[in-house]
Amino acid sequence: MEFLANSLLELIIRTSTDLPPDVRAAMAVTAGGETPGTQSAQALDIICSNIDMAADDTGAICQDTGMPTFVVHTPVGVNQIHIRNAIREAVAEATRLGKLRPNSVDSISGKNSGNNLGTETPVMHFEQWEEDEVEVKLILKGGGCENMNAQYSVPCVLDHLGRADRNLEGVRKCILHAVWKAQGLGCAPGALGVCIGSDRAHGYELAKGQLFRTLDDVNPDPTLAKLEAEIMEEANKLGVGAMGFGGKASLIGCKITAANRLPASFFVSVAYDCWAFRRLGVRLDAGTGAIARWLYRDPSRPVERMARGEGFTLTGREVILRPPLSEAQVRALHVGDVVLITGEMFTGRDNVHAYLMKNPPPVDLNGAVLYHCGPVMLKAGERWTVKAAGPTTSMREEPYQAEVIRRYGVRAVIGKGGMGAKTLAALEECGAVYLNAIGGAAQFYARTVEQVLGVSLLDFGIPEAMWHLRVAGFAAIVTMDAHGASLHADVERSTGEALATLQKA
Ligand code: SF4
Repeated sequence: MEFLANSLLELIIRTSTDLPPDVRAAMAVTAGGETPGTQSAQALDIICSNIDMAADDTGAICQDTGMPTFVVHTPVGVNQIHIRNAIREAVAEATRLGKLRPNSVDSISGKNSGNNLGTETPVMHFEQWEEDEVEVKLILKGGGCENMNAQYSVPCVLDHLGRADRNLEGVRKCILHAVWKAQGLGCAPGALGVCIGSDRAHGYELAKGQLFRTLDDVNPDPTLAKLEAEIMEEANKLGVGAMGFGGKASLIGCKITAANRLPASFFVSVAYDCWAFRRLGVRLDAGTGAIARWLYRDPSRPVERMARGEGFTLTGREVILRPPLSEAQVRALHVGDVVLITGEMFTGRDNVHAYLMKNPPPVDLNGAVLYHCGPVMLKAGERWTVKAAGPTTSMREEPYQAEVIRRYGVRAVIGKGGMGAKTLAALEECGAVYLNAIGGAAQFYARTVEQVLGVSLLDFGIPEAMWHLRVAGFAAIVTMDAHGASLHADVERSTGEALATLQKA
């Protein structure tokens, strides 16, 4: 299998950097259907540019390259241990090249292994089959959307939809509820894999397995095909919109399977994937390991470009912010304003926020911009460069954020998906804003970084360290302001009302 290592590395790099045609097509339809000039349309413009940038430069589409999950089929007699080892080596090499972010964290010590290898990472599933070739499929699904997975045990009572019974109508309600609950936290528009039945553990596995279907296929089971179509139509009436900004599209796909269950259990398991729906596969020659053909993509067909214009079109109404920011500058901002930040900002996510609750910050945060981001970084000599740098889900910092703002004078927090009532109160009390960057637009934002000025708390690992970045023209939308307004709360309310109208008698 002399070509196996290269084939696997190529599969990982392509998966991380180049969205497959079915996902591109679904995103093109979504972008084309959004109302021009809305925040959702702006977000989709940035997303489409980001898809092009990632493919052009073979850079990670999103900085969260997720849990690498491989599904491998081998002919009888092929050495699976050999393939398992080759996958681990390819994952480590792709990480070293900056195509995957170091994402494997020891759950007990909190240490990042630095190479995406660790106990049960990467995830590998092996099956034998009676074909001659080896098939390797890969999905990279990030933490933001993974956290939006949901599992329902019916019968249950759901917000806005009432009781979900043990029948297809109950299943329909659960799936719609999962879409509503996710809002923009999983970087909407999303794609769902769903399993009706099975047990808890296998139900989730089967739900994730549905994400290996192409978005444009038709379920061979007419009952499930009808349900998939119905969910697509109804979910896209909810008004979640790209990034949860409010808009036409909530989903780009819904794929459902059913498995037998125990009489006492009835689970509906939902695997939520984001627009950065990275999955590819290859068929390999079982003797040499060379790629015989690609799955999901045709390498001879030119990749269609996604961006319709320049990506993010400036209107001249954008507010220029140069940190450190004053209270007056921040109080002048309102929900809906688009800002362009030029100057210094600091990254900080889960570990940094926990650290700041017990320790003074390693830098002066008065007037600062704090960016919820775990970038992909590469070091050449003494110089760090940013390879991917989109926002992470801010809601995880809700237990800390208000206190960090109060104690240290942070004036702007950037992230995605919005934050809760405690943070909103602190923004109003202290004079600060929450800025929503476009989730997954890792290449778009990496290009705004002019220089890496330094790093603090690197012991936490690359994604969790506090990076000091100098940016130019970093675009974001004010979604929570210092006057008590929150776009996220408004969209959650309006989509909840829309969800209630989908309750059938
Ligand atoms: S696009 Fe959003 S949800 Fe998806 S992996 Fe990236 S940050 Fe996570």
